[in-house]
Amino acid sequence: MNKKIKPIDVLVIGSGLSSLVFLQSFLKKRKKVEVISPNLNFKKLKQNNLVKHITKILPPQMIGADQKVKGYFHWNNINLKENCKVFGSMEFGGLSNYWGLQMDPDILSDIKNLSFKVKKDISKSFLEILKEFNLAGKFKNYENSFKRDNFFLIKEQKKNSLKFEEFIVGFKNSFGKRKKIGAANEVSDKFTPENFYKKFLKKKNIQFHNYFVKKIKKQGNLIEVVCSNGNSNKSFLAKKIVLGSGTVVTTKIILDYLKFTKEVKLKHHPRLFSLYLTKKKWSNTMTFQPSQVHLKPKNKTELFTSDFRPGNKLIIDSITKFKKYLYIFKPILNFFRFNMIFSNTLLNSKFSNIYLKLEKDSSLSIYSKYKNIDKIFKQISTLVYNFLRKEKKILPIKLNYFPGFGADFHYFGTLQIGGKGKLSVNENCQLLNNKNIYIIDGSIFNFSRNKYPLGLILANAKRVAKVLTK
Ligand SMILES: Cc1cc2nc3c(=O)[nH]c(=O)nc-3n(C[C@H](O)[C@H](O)[C@H](O)COP(=O)(O)OP(=O)(O)OC[C@H]3O[C@@H](n4cnc5c(N)ncnc54)[C@H](O)[C@@H]3O)c2cc1C
Repeated sequence: MNKKIKPIDVLVIGSGLSSLVFLQSFLKKRKKVEVISPNLNFKKLKQNNLVKHITKILPPQMIGADQKVKGYFHWNNINLKENCKVFGSMEFGGLSNYWGLQMDPDILSDIKNLSFKVKKDISKSFLEILKEFNLAGKFKNYENSFKRDNFFLIKEQKKNSLKFEEFIVGFKNSFGKRKKIGAANEVSDKFTPENFYKKFLKKKNIQFHNYFVKKIKKQGNLIEVVCSNGNSNKSFLAKKIVLGSGTVVTTKIILDYLKFTKEVKLKHHPRLFSLYLTKKKWSNTMTFQPSQVHLKPKNKTELFTSDFRPGNKLIIDSITKFKKYLYIFKPILNFFRFNMIFSNTLLNSKFSNIYLKLEKDSSLSIYSKYKNIDKIFKQISTLVYNFLRKEKKILPIKLNYFPGFGADFHYFGTLQIGGKGKLSVNENCQLLNNKNIYIIDGSIFNFSRNKYPLGLILANAKRVAKVLTK
């Protein structure tokens, strides 16, 4: 590497929402920034048989993203074993392009161990994000709520062991006087990387480099970032790097940097997918309606969260894609879609079962171990079903499906703040003993109560930008 090259001050890696929120705040104080953001043409990519099991079961929002998912595993040299289902996408915006638009406002529950100042700064940054994008929902004194569909009106249920809770919805709340979520513009009101970029970053001085990171190395006080565009390599030299490449890739880069070859546990929220039928239709006009309330236990509120949304054509498309025998029933399923309720139940991260291991050839293996969680899913599913029956919301039929470990799309907890040993960061999110490496994605938290992690991730990314520009 030619050391005469002038080093970049701060080099950001990734263009998901964590990186973009970081950039917005960073550029309030700095004039220019450089970003490694892969946006490659995958047409030439050969079949990657190792991830066929993933591209077959893409969630509704990701239909059509097969090549980007294959590219992610291929270029990042990740070997995903058949017994687990982890998703990733190499493109501008990454997985943040597809999120389900739900954010837990209870961001403080999972960071109780942090100092008072950090908690205060994270809260402040969260509030700023909500205000800047005018997001729908409630948080402390922030109230920008919307009129909920009658189907899930919240009642006080004293005798029940479960309760409904509100959350932040990833839509800009500018959808008409009555403020019904169905009036949102599903393209322009969404909190997506593209919309965020257009609103806050388009006119800023950002130099994007269309490369992906292969590895990072120490070069004296600097960090060398070795990249590729699939044809040739290029190295960048930086004084500080900020990793926002999503938990899996960020962890791989750090494991390789530290030559850490022991098994690492990836935290996530195992997800049960349920289908209920209703007598009364829950109609809506949206292509993909986000859910509007969360159901949680009153006690032990960290155990699980269930969300609910009415059926739509996208979900039916996705089901008939991976359950091919249902294809001939597609018109009938579509006809009855408003009599269907789809629900995700996300479990506490203590039920995680995904492991990462850096191999000698620098590839990353991702796998699960044998673990039967049927019992806990059965127990929870019965609780939710009985609750909905008692509330007279559903008919006495339910279908449950566990899509596999990792098919919850929430990956975190590998490099925790205040964690033990080499694989941890300090409260400024600097890697232990490596102050020029900052980490801003989900790697640094354990989301135990909070089952929709993006709110806390983004609030923290904004806070770290302020730390760096102080
Ligand atoms: C279908 C779906 C639904 C979801 N629903 C929700 C929800 O309702 N609520 C919630 O809180 N979360 C949800 N999530 C999770 C949420 O999307 C992620 O937590 C969030 O996107 C993480 O943002 P990030 O910026 O850290 O990473 P990402 O958005 O994944 O961004 C990673 C970036 O790194 C880039 N990259 C990849 N490899 C490299 C490399 N080698 N070098 C450089 N850059 C690289 C990618 O191209 C991308 O730009 C959902 C996810 C999915 C897929």
